[in-house]
Amino acid sequence: MKIGILSRGPNLYSTRRLVEAARERGHDVEVLDTLHCYMNINSLEPVVHYQGRELKDFDAIIPRIGASITFYGAAVLRQFEMMGVYPLNESVAISRSRDKLRAMQLMSRKGIGMPVTGFAHSPDDIPDLIDLVGGAPLVIKLLEGTQGIGVVLAETRKAAESVIEAFMGLKTNIMVQEYIKEAGGADIRCFVVGDKVVASMKRQAPEGEFRSNLHRGGTAAVIRITPEERATAVRAAKTMGLNVAGVDILRSNHGPVVMEVNSSPGIQGIEEATSIDVASKIIQFIEKNARVNHTRTRGKG
Ligand code: ADP
Repeated sequence: MKIGILSRGPNLYSTRRLVEAARERGHDVEVLDTLHCYMNINSLEPVVHYQGRELKDFDAIIPRIGASITFYGAAVLRQFEMMGVYPLNESVAISRSRDKLRAMQLMSRKGIGMPVTGFAHSPDDIPDLIDLVGGAPLVIKLLEGTQGIGVVLAETRKAAESVIEAFMGLKTNIMVQEYIKEAGGADIRCFVVGDKVVASMKRQAPEGEFRSNLHRGGTAAVIRITPEERATAVRAAKTMGLNVAGVDILRSNHGPVVMEVNSSPGIQGIEEATSIDVASKIIQFIEKNARVNHTRTRGKG
């Protein structure tokens, strides 16, 4: 098969591992810099151009689209979908999961466990917003934050009010969330491929910190997840329409709750923690499922 990887960085671990796994399994693979792809959207025959040539004969595309280029990346991927190329994750599914509010609304409709969460932009009644999610302690998040930046634990009602006021000054969307204290500063990353969790790891925050992000000094270890956690992760990915996803779960008193569904989950942390060859599992999934025009929406969603 001829596989294209949409990625800004051919040297990133995840990209390198996917290239390696695809070659090992006998495929022809090329890394395409997403932002360097261009296209004529008026032509009757959709095509993607790259470095002066037409990218015509790809069987499958693996999108590795960073949060900062979601908009353009989704357009490039959609163009491949219009050409009938099989996308590992569809453009609509990526857009869905990147919009955290939309993602949580969709999961709540499916009855997937989530922390009690409120959304706001400019609430006139902050105490009411705080009551809505059960009062302090609570977690307040900037919607645009990544790697734990912009995630604050407010232990008292007064602190919560001040933080919400400060975030409101930034004129941005915020999320106010029940604090899952019983998670003990740990979360679980479930790596979903198709209808299976192929690997899972527990990330533990360092002493005195509640955020378990590896970038914040968290440590990763292999963990056995329960059947309920497994089912929750797979359902969350399915709800987004993602074939491959990193689903982050907290262990709460009311069962597993999903914090986030990531459409371009990193491969390094999970492979190092579990010694599972996740990259090959992704390539095998493509071998089984890639067919021309096998995209549900063909970019129409
Ligand atoms: P980011 O997307 O920036 O990583 P997250 O929403 O994943 O932000 O939060 C970062 C970390 O903070 C999580 O990995 C988790 O350990 C912790 N955390 C986030 N929300 C909660 C919560 N409601 N209760 C307890 N811990 C939380």
